[in-house]
Amino acid sequence: MLKYQETLQAVKEYILGHDDFLVISHLSPDGDAVGSSLAMANLLKNLNKRYTVVNEGSCPRKFSYLHLFDEIIDLSQQSIQRSFKHIISVDVADMSRFGNAHHLFAENAYIVNIDHHPTNTLFGQLNLIRSDAASTTEILFDLIDQHFSHALDTHVAESLYTGLLTDTGGFRYANTNQAVLEKAAKLLSYDLKPAKIAERALETMTASFLELLKLSLNTLSFAFDGKVAILSISLADLEKAGANREDVDGLVAYPRNIEGVEVGILLKEWSADEVKVSLRSKELVDVSGIAQKNGGGGHVRAAGFTYHGDLNQAKKHI
Ligand code: 5GP
Ligand code: MN
Repeated sequence: MLKYQETLQAVKEYILGHDDFLVISHLSPDGDAVGSSLAMANLLKNLNKRYTVVNEGSCPRKFSYLHLFDEIIDLSQQSIQRSFKHIISVDVADMSRFGNAHHLFAENAYIVNIDHHPTNTLFGQLNLIRSDAASTTEILFDLIDQHFSHALDTHVAESLYTGLLTDTGGFRYANTNQAVLEKAAKLLSYDLKPAKIAERALETMTASFLELLKLSLNTLSFAFDGKVAILSISLADLEKAGANREDVDGLVAYPRNIEGVEVGILLKEWSADEVKVSLRSKELVDVSGIAQKNGGGGHVRAAGFTYHGDLNQAKKHI
């Protein structure tokens, strides 16, 4: 396998040597998914390349301050009647995380897989993976800083910074380190407004989110001597709160942050027989292992999987 620096070089050459790219990220996109997609889209635009940015499902509106946000096509709302040969996948650990987007890949498609999940399945023809990177945008920073610095402008910088900010929980999680802060500082030199970005990406809550929080707190329960805390959200709760799936993002921090708790769990009932499980740990438990055993994946401190059954069964299973 190519070393990191050589792979950065190979990705650079691939981008320069081709045109008409499909940029895609994962289901339930977070700040790193949206930031990575738009950093790549803005880079391609600055390089005068043609590109199409898609996602299976809508991207949270809170990231609408990012340039080209409105160009992201939600495949669940709008179909695309063609296929692409050149795919750039960002922040996607395995191909199931594309959702139903496979039909957009041409038969001889070449996938450039750029990601930081330790559970990445290396599904690309070219795999630019660094599992110790704080975010996928940190890897994109390396690519752009080293090879495309002439195309690095405010829009690219703001997208990269957003992924760094959100995947480190506002530069607080264990993936925050000197290199991350130095890269963030370098990005700020592109005339970014960090307080404004933090307010949009981290602080602002929808009223629906608070309604959901109210409802889910009633479900709080503990296991393993108070070391595991569990919250759940039912379909009825979602409806009652007038919330959609993206409003649920962030709820899992509440059980995790309780004093004495090592693992926080959120069970989200997506349908009568489908429960999305989010796992967060503080310092001892590798939740990516638990997620992988259940057909999912993620990081040591943040992972998830889909459980097929109802909420009660999911809770018992956990
Ligand atoms: P979340 O709990 O916020 O949905 O996800 C936490 C982390 O686990 C993210 O890095 C996400 O990509 C990963 N993750 C969540 N669900 C799945 C899944 O079903 N499969 C895989 N491979 N990763 C997941
Ligand atoms: Mn990420």
